[in-house]
Amino acid sequence: MRETSIETKCIHEGYKPGNGEARQIPIYQSTTFKYDTSDEMGQLFDLEKEGYFYTRLQNPTNDAVAAKIAALEGGVAAMLTSSGQAANFFAVFNICEAGDHFLASSSIYGGTFNLFTVTMKKMGIECTIYDQNLPEEEINKLFKPNTKCIFGETITNPTVNIFDIEKFAGIAHKHGVPLIVDNTFATPVNCQPIKFGADIVTHSTTKYMDGHAVGVGGCIVDSGNFDWMAHADKYPGLTQPDESYHGVTYAKHFGKAAYISKATVQLMRDLGCIQSPQNAFYLNMGLESLPVRVRQHCSSALAIAKYLESHDKVAWVNYPDLESSESHELFEKYMSGASCGVLCFGIKGGRETCVKFMDTLKLANIETHVADSKTCLLHPASHTHRQMTEEQLLEAGVAPDLIRFSVGLENPEDIIADLQQAFDQI
Ligand SMILES: *Cc1c(COP(=O)(O)O)cnc(C)c1O
Repeated sequence: MRETSIETKCIHEGYKPGNGEARQIPIYQSTTFKYDTSDEMGQLFDLEKEGYFYTRLQNPTNDAVAAKIAALEGGVAAMLTSSGQAANFFAVFNICEAGDHFLASSSIYGGTFNLFTVTMKKMGIECTIYDQNLPEEEINKLFKPNTKCIFGETITNPTVNIFDIEKFAGIAHKHGVPLIVDNTFATPVNCQPIKFGADIVTHSTTKYMDGHAVGVGGCIVDSGNFDWMAHADKYPGLTQPDESYHGVTYAKHFGKAAYISKATVQLMRDLGCIQSPQNAFYLNMGLESLPVRVRQHCSSALAIAKYLESHDKVAWVNYPDLESSESHELFEKYMSGASCGVLCFGIKGGRETCVKFMDTLKLANIETHVADSKTCLLHPASHTHRQMTEEQLLEAGVAPDLIRFSVGLENPEDIIADLQQAFDQI
């Protein structure tokens, strides 16, 4: 039989109702779960038996939605988090502790950059930022004996360049560490990083997966492919007994789902960044229509990118689907026909003209958001990346005149008309 398509998975994975049961995933709006005997509850605490006992650790609504995302990404299991920030923090913190080191691309979301280089530093975890265009020999030099993972974004926010997943998976594996990829912008509709060697995939589900700007959320997907036991000395948290669970060793007890099980029963238990079941329900509504929406976002974005490229007031445009994009070759390798609905461009006349232009738009709103149904835009140098120095901005490839434009689900002709009236006024 043919492999089930992503459209069908988006509808059916994660939840199969039994006879006479609710067709849609029920919202288990309950903090706790009841047991008949004390002994059964004890077994849950010892991880000897699977079951729900407290929503901070696991909840059936969240688990159904996480299982759907795991299926979409081709992973063995997944865990929902309260935000994309929590997902990226947990993804790294699950295998890095004080005294450890990891590598992250300079072309990443501003919030992630801050988390990795400022906040995690205070926890004693050191992050070296690399330029993802560097050749392999240069990246190799950045490794230290205490390096525990490499991090990058499939499509970088806000510069929309494409990460060479196979290259970095190869480098990571040569050094015996996993590759973590944030797949927020591409979504599994356009790219499944695990197929190209990524070990862990993260999401800000706040973006296309939700798609309607209703709930902040995140997700971590475990490919199950990284052999923790083969690098046991590097990952004691996974390969040595956890005293807080009567000595369970995750890599032995949970096999291929060791990483995600540890993140759930240990990090989520202790740090508690859960997604509410209500938000998981909304997220699932978004997932059901994800492929249909993503395809429309992308075809509109391509039309708008072409319009901008031909406009004489536009200094430059970057959209990976355009042949002129520096990422076009990687686009052809990694994306299945389209990248995302976000593009970026600069306007002739520099920063002040950019600001005037943005203020003149009517349909497109200035918002700290991307990837939902409403067209919006942002000027990273004045907004999301304002904490960065000019030097850090340049290193991250964020030009001072860069406008990040997120194409919504309005008719693309209307979006172009709005852009046109704004260009006419500058
Ligand atoms: C938005 C975003 C995040 C952070 O997610 P939140 O849900 O806002 O916490 C992380 N990575 C990328 C690529 C994002 O776009």
